[in-house]
Amino acid sequence: MSKILFFTFILMSALTTIAVAQSSTASNPQVRRALDYIKTIEPETINEQIKTCEIPAPPFKEEKRAAYYQQRFIELGLKNVRIDKEGNVIGERPGESSAATLVLAAHLDTVFPEDTDVKVTREGNVLKGPGIGDDCRGLAVILTVARALNEAKITTKGTIIFVANVGEEGLGDLRGVKYLFNTELKGRITHFISVDGTGTRTINTGVGSNRYRVTFKGPGGHSYGAFGLPSPIHALGRAIEKISRFEVPKTPKTTFNVGRIEGGTSVNSVAHTAWMEVDMRSESGAALAKLDAQFQQAIQDSLKEENEFWKHEKKLTVDVNLVGKRPVGEQTGEAPIVQAAVAADAALGLKSQFGAGSTDSNIPMSLNIPAITIGGGGIGRNAHALDESFEITNSHLGTQRALLITLNIVGVK
Ligand SMILES: [Zn+2]
Repeated sequence: MSKILFFTFILMSALTTIAVAQSSTASNPQVRRALDYIKTIEPETINEQIKTCEIPAPPFKEEKRAAYYQQRFIELGLKNVRIDKEGNVIGERPGESSAATLVLAAHLDTVFPEDTDVKVTREGNVLKGPGIGDDCRGLAVILTVARALNEAKITTKGTIIFVANVGEEGLGDLRGVKYLFNTELKGRITHFISVDGTGTRTINTGVGSNRYRVTFKGPGGHSYGAFGLPSPIHALGRAIEKISRFEVPKTPKTTFNVGRIEGGTSVNSVAHTAWMEVDMRSESGAALAKLDAQFQQAIQDSLKEENEFWKHEKKLTVDVNLVGKRPVGEQTGEAPIVQAAVAADAALGLKSQFGAGSTDSNIPMSLNIPAITIGGGGIGRNAHALDESFEITNSHLGTQRALLITLNIVGVK
């Protein structure tokens, strides 16, 4: 019971803190002006979102969209605008003290390959186009936040660094944000917010993931004449069969997936190579490590079984390559950066929603630097699909929320 009382006390004091943050930021006349301005110019934010999305940004080829963001950062008067060696676009809005240095980021890359038609179509309140929500919305939101701060002539206590980063999706493996924290802005960042996707949820737990490409190799040969050779495809099949029977906990949520397979050259050849790409995720580092060990064992067992089944003098080998690793990260509801989001929600009349995800925030979270990933507002559907859509309904709330959370952290002069 004492525990419950103690918890209630924490909750009460947390609510008091929220109330203070709310009244000191959201009711500031300049902040109100910025919030109203965001609502007024939402149609322009939408135009920016469409324009952004029609500049292709396939994985590892974000340069064109980066060049556009560099130009926009300069036009918005950000300082020391640059593109770093990894390809991130950076622009700084210095505060009056070195109290906090917050990065407000959105990712440039999409999951779509180079030849994808990126034309955006509009029907009433609904935009359709690859990447329109994830993350053209986030990119447009950070530009409007910078614009609104200028319009309302807001001076902040801490510094805001705007970043349009590369490499969030898939095999990009968070390379942009890794570079920010390890090199470009090493030691400078005290808080990190990524505006990624749609809606008004807050991701405060970073789901970790391990991704592998597993390649079985053998001599290969004629399916009739060389019958008796061990087959990389058969070994791969054995491995997939084992993986498909893995049992994982529901909480902490832990998942696995064989996402791609390929192998062989023709129907009448014993393949000489076959590979798969596997993704494993968990909210818990321990659960992920356990799953990974099971996976490694399944691969080695499959290799052994296929080789032993045929007893051929020529044996298969296997390469297991780690192609992606995102660390697990977690922050409690009491963390000030989470409280900053709760306060913004309250000020905007929104119900706070929290969740876990695998996003750019995983990197700072794993370094114990406060970080959250927030939605850019509106309603998103079919992210990562060619018919991805974005519904404009109340989408200005996403931008207002990004501004308020930012200001709750860096403080207004
Ligand atoms: Zn995204």
